Amino acid sequence: MTAIFHRAPRQTLPVAVTGDGIEIIDAMGKRYIDASGGAAVSCLGHSHPRIVEAIEQQARKLAYAHTSFFTTEPAEALARHLVERAPAGLAYVYFVSGGSEAMEAALKLARQYFVEIGQPERRHIVARRQSYHGNTLGALAIGGNARRRAPFEPLLIEAHHVSPCYAYRERLAGETDEAYVQRLADELEQTIVALGPDTVAAFVAETVVGATLGAVPPVADYFRRIRAVCDKYGVLLILDEVMCGMGRTGHLYACEEEAIAPDLLTVAKGLGAGYQPIGAVLVNERLYDAIVGGSGFFQHGHTYIGHAIACAAALEVQRVIVEENLLANVRERGMQLRASLRERFAGHAHIGDIRGRGLFVGIELVEDVVSKTPFAPERALHVAIKREAMARGLMVYPMGGTVDGWRGDHVLLAPPYICTCEDIERIVERLGDAIEAALAPFR
Ligand code: PLP
Repeated sequence: MTAIFHRAPRQTLPVAVTGDGIEIIDAMGKRYIDASGGAAVSCLGHSHPRIVEAIEQQARKLAYAHTSFFTTEPAEALARHLVERAPAGLAYVYFVSGGSEAMEAALKLARQYFVEIGQPERRHIVARRQSYHGNTLGALAIGGNARRRAPFEPLLIEAHHVSPCYAYRERLAGETDEAYVQRLADELEQTIVALGPDTVAAFVAETVVGATLGAVPPVADYFRRIRAVCDKYGVLLILDEVMCGMGRTGHLYACEEEAIAPDLLTVAKGLGAGYQPIGAVLVNERLYDAIVGGSGFFQHGHTYIGHAIACAAALEVQRVIVEENLLANVRERGMQLRASLRERFAGHAHIGDIRGRGLFVGIELVEDVVSKTPFAPERALHVAIKREAMARGLMVYPMGGTVDGWRGDHVLLAPPYICTCEDIERIVERLGDAIEAALAPFR
């Protein structure tokens, strides 16, 4: 009997007891390769001795000091580490405890910035359909996942949605990359104009889409055109890198590959690698100056912002990534993973797309590869894949899209940055078997 209110209370879950590198071991002694890092979190695997040691040391020195009284050494050092490597202009860091909190803080920073500079009429947020930015009310409101939003709809702030950049399904037949991204930029521009350009505060997007679509990178030049539209109308660009940031794509910040800098950038999962709950908002100097030179106070805060143990753990995670040159491993193992999956599923009747960047990889499953018809949602293929993978000692993150009318099944892979060639081979082998077993009743 469990006394915990789990998300899906009817499920019986194995009890995770220990971690060992890229594996989790349950109470029965069964090992699971963590090929999804949970939900793209555990980027250094489990029980990493350096992170455990950093947490212990900080706990012995000082666990917590409220930010209205003190700053701390690990918080200052972590902020410096992040901004020294950040895209141009992102010079300040606001620490929180996770991804949704980071998105809430980013939305409020955007709004307060416009109040500070005398443009209080700017209140609209534009985001994208088929998106997820967190489960707190503000983050949920801007997300485009109709199913998650549905029960809470009357409580949500108004938000506006444009199309995601999702070439596999939404690029028209014969449309070039250039024409496709121009169409998307035009759609954003028309939305801003229709709302009234002086009333729009920010446009929000994930740089590489994670959970909702399954590791979908933007088409070349998409974000440069989006940035140009935002600049034309004085709209802030908020990039959500809660899932895709902190090295997951082979670059510390995923937007480095887009050759643009956002005004606000959120990170979380890979920041603390699951060793401590921590997230952050990187803030452009212009916004910071407006608030510091204006009211001088960000009207927001939580008790645990800048938590000393969380910052010490995250700092050590980030140092390990640098010192062990793990971003290069992410790029190389990521290429190997995509190539192995393509080989394993070559000519497969139900693998529609294999995509991603670095160790952030998505596989989309379809009933028919030519028409891209998804499997009927009531068959819950993604649920069967997860079950079959767990039976084989493999953790993957499958999703069944029920997002704005589009439905489909995909599997998200986000293995730890420390994984080896052999680990990748084991992941592909077990996943291949799990997918075949899940598809068997469909044949
Ligand atoms: N933004 C994105 C892109 C996410 O994937 C998530 C979580 O999956 C969040 C925000 C919310 O993060 P958290 O679950 O830490 O609140």
